[in-house]
Order: sequence, then structure tokens, then C-alpha cells
Amino acid sequence: MSNKPARTRIAPSPTGHMHLGTARVALYDYLLAKKTGGQFILRIEDTDLKRTVPGAEQEIMDGLRWLGLTYDEGPDIGGQYGPYRQTERREIYQAHAKTLVEKGRAYPCFCSPERLDQVRQAQMKNKENPRYDGACRSLDPDDAARRIANGEAYTIRFKMPQEGATVARDHLRGDIVTENKQLNDQVILKTDGLPTYHLAAIVDDHEMKITHVMRGSEWLGTFPLHVNIVRAFGWDEPVWIHLSVFLKPSGKGKMSKREAAEAMKDGYSIFIKDMQELGFTPEGVLNWSALMGWGVAEDDVMTLDQMIERFSIDSLTPSPAAVNFQKLDHFNATHIRLLTTEDLAARLKPYFTREGLNVRDDVLLKMIPLIRERLTTLDDCISFGAFFFKDEVTPNPEDLIAKGLDAKQSAEIARRAYQILGAGPGLSHEGSEAPMRAYVEESGYSASQVFGILRVAVTGQKVSPPLFESMEIIGREICLRRIQNAIGILEKT
Ligand code: GLU
Repeated sequence: MSNKPARTRIAPSPTGHMHLGTARVALYDYLLAKKTGGQFILRIEDTDLKRTVPGAEQEIMDGLRWLGLTYDEGPDIGGQYGPYRQTERREIYQAHAKTLVEKGRAYPCFCSPERLDQVRQAQMKNKENPRYDGACRSLDPDDAARRIANGEAYTIRFKMPQEGATVARDHLRGDIVTENKQLNDQVILKTDGLPTYHLAAIVDDHEMKITHVMRGSEWLGTFPLHVNIVRAFGWDEPVWIHLSVFLKPSGKGKMSKREAAEAMKDGYSIFIKDMQELGFTPEGVLNWSALMGWGVAEDDVMTLDQMIERFSIDSLTPSPAAVNFQKLDHFNATHIRLLTTEDLAARLKPYFTREGLNVRDDVLLKMIPLIRERLTTLDDCISFGAFFFKDEVTPNPEDLIAKGLDAKQSAEIARRAYQILGAGPGLSHEGSEAPMRAYVEESGYSASQVFGILRVAVTGQKVSPPLFESMEIIGREICLRRIQNAIGILEKT
């Protein structure tokens, strides 16, 4: 791999929610740019006005920032090669379409949508592949100019060579050879004066000095067309890298909208914004997606900096990867453990606040070491630790009754615990655990009975982080109040 600074771009269309596919291409783009001391660019491909969704562009920018894939040039920050939104570049494409027409490599087409439809129907009836029949390919240029001057609607089509073959080189797949007679004269400029992807992306990649084009393998079909357009202009080609598609978790078939909706039911998503809300970390998402298409060991845990260190386009693979959410859990949990307590505190706080809890920062910093190992997603902090920030907990009366005992015996245990814990001035975990264990010994009840009642009384739940450490953080006064409350509940049961 050459070490020349690479200029890479992520070029999403703002047509829906930002998904995993965009994130992964952006990651590889970012890694290559950083690795080589180059630039990573965001370009918004919004020329399909009918499909543009309000807010989608912002979601892409927010998503990239959340992931930590900061771009060096983009619509909101500008740069030397802007504008970075294609609808703001229409004159550039029109000028380039004109150049191709003048070179005899493109031509105006006046065929109406109705005519094109009839041609298509007839071809389908004859079991032929639908394609443009070339009706306008050999129109007299002066005639064409006159029709345009008369205000007739037209598109511009690229004139594909009809003989020979096109050899297009993909960095991961090698040479792809296509017979030119199989290729179609595609529209590159639409009647509204806006370009199609085929012209816009090629022109922009050239104008923005992009050295490596990474994109989804769904573009392999029109890859020969793109290569022909670059060559018709006489430009140098970028390195082309077509990345594999994602397969369903089962490995059978492409990841689909339906599959994505299924995943959501289990608390997973392939949309970046959802992942954030579900409590996944950017580190976890990046590490997970990095390995779906990059031939490093499947369980390699890497931060973004480590990925930059190790990245090479030569180790990307063209084989499709199945989306495996269990691996996402694994990487997320692993990265949560690698965060500093302060960093994790800042990330957990919004989840507590979202639940309406009043978070005390000193308590938050102290409880994190107790729950960190239990977190798979950040929002797991609620089930493991909301009780630290609640004014009151409301234990389930049945949960307060220990296994093998009745309400009366359980109340007696709670009363004893209250006395023992209330005897001292503080509630250090060492200071409370020893006398409580002594009580277990002398009472004849089991540790799980006694501590179980205490746990439910103090935390409101049957499963919690280590009990005595938790009580120390909650503090004597609140713990005693909660035990008192539990006694009341048991006495009424
Ligand atoms: N706008 C295209 C898309 O969203 C981008 C493909 C490319 O990166 O060239 O699929």
C-alpha cells in the first residue's frame, strides 16, 4: 500500500436513517486517511430530491461525530473543494455533461417517459434485458441543439462504447471484465438539470481529489459505466474498493428492513441513532463493524487509534459478513470495561437522567466500580443501579419474604438488621458485614435468607451489585429508612 496521503470520502444520500453500512465505510475511509496523513471528507449526495428526507443529513453528521469519525471537510465545516452538498454543485455537473457531449461521449435524449416505458415493456415481453434502445444516440447534433433551444425536455445520456470490453479494477476483487455490448447508455443528467449518481459522484471524486473510493458492492453493477465516464474525461482513476454487503444474522440472504425490525424487538438495531439510544458505545460499534470486512482476528479488541495503527486496505476482504449482535454485545461490554470511571460516569448520567433520576455525582463515581462488570450496554445501569439515586425503593412484598420463611420471621430478621446496622455511627461495608455475618451464625438462618431480605429492603430488587459496598455508598440514614420501610411492609403482609 502506498503511503501517499489518501483523500477519502463518505458520500451518503440523505434518504433515511444512518445505518451500519455507512458507518463501516466511513470508518475505513477515516482509518485510511489518518493512517496516511490524508483527509476524510463528508459529501452529501442529495440529487434525488424525491428521496431526500428532512433531518437525514443532520443525522449523518451527528452520527459520524458520535462515532468519533471527524471529517476534515464537509457541508457544515466547508473546505477547499466545496460545496460538499451536491445540490449546490449543479453548474459544475452541467458544465461537465456539456464537455462530454462536445467530446462526442454523451448526447441529449428527448425520449419521453412514456416512450421509454413502451420500449421496456416490449423488451420484457421478448424476455430481453430492459435497456435504452439508443433512439437518440445518433441524432444530428444541430437538430438536437434546435430542439433544446425550443425548450423541449431532455436528459443527457452517456455514450457507451459498443464494441470491445471494459476492464475495471477493484482493489479487493481484481479485474472485472464486461463486454461493452452488455452496457447501457445511462442518463447522467436529468430533465431537472440535476445529475444522476453516475455523473455527480465521478465528477466530485475527481474535483475533490479523492484517491480511494470505498463504497458498497451494490455499485459493482454500474462500476464499468463509472470507469468509462472517468476515462471519457481523461482523468486518473481512484483506487476502487467495493465492500461486501451485510448478511442477516442467520447468514442466509442480505440484511433487510424486515430483519432490522426483528432485531429491534431484541434490543438491537442497525441504525446508528438507535444504537446510541440502546446504550451501545461508539467504541463497541466501531470495533464490531470494523471486523465485518477486515481480515484481522475476529476477536481483536481495538480502539480507534489502534485501528489506525493496524489498518491497511490490503487486509480488507470482499466476502460478505453476517451481522452478529452477540458480538456487538461482547465488544460493547469489553469497551465499557476499558473506559475510565470518569468517562463512564459522563456516559451513564444521561441514562439515569432519562429515567427522571436525580444523579449525585459523588455517588455515581463510587457506584461505577460496583456495576461496571455487569454492563453490556450503558442503559443496563438502570437495572443494576437506579436504586442508588431513588428517594425511596418499593420492594415487592413477596420478595421480602426469604425462601423457607414466613413474613413474621422475615420481619424479625429485618428488625435485627436494623438494630445491628443502626448501632454504629457510619455504615462502612467492613463495619456492617462482620456483625451481620455474626448474626447469621448465631440466628441459625442462612446467609442467603438474611442477606436476601436486606438486599431487597435496601435496593428494592433481588439482584444487585455487592450488598455491603452498595449500602456504604447509599449511606446509613437512607439504608435504615429503607429497612424500616421494609419492616412496615412485612408487618402488614
Ligand atoms: N450516495 C451513494 C449512496 O448513498 C454513495 C455511494 C458512494 O459512496 O459512492 O449509496
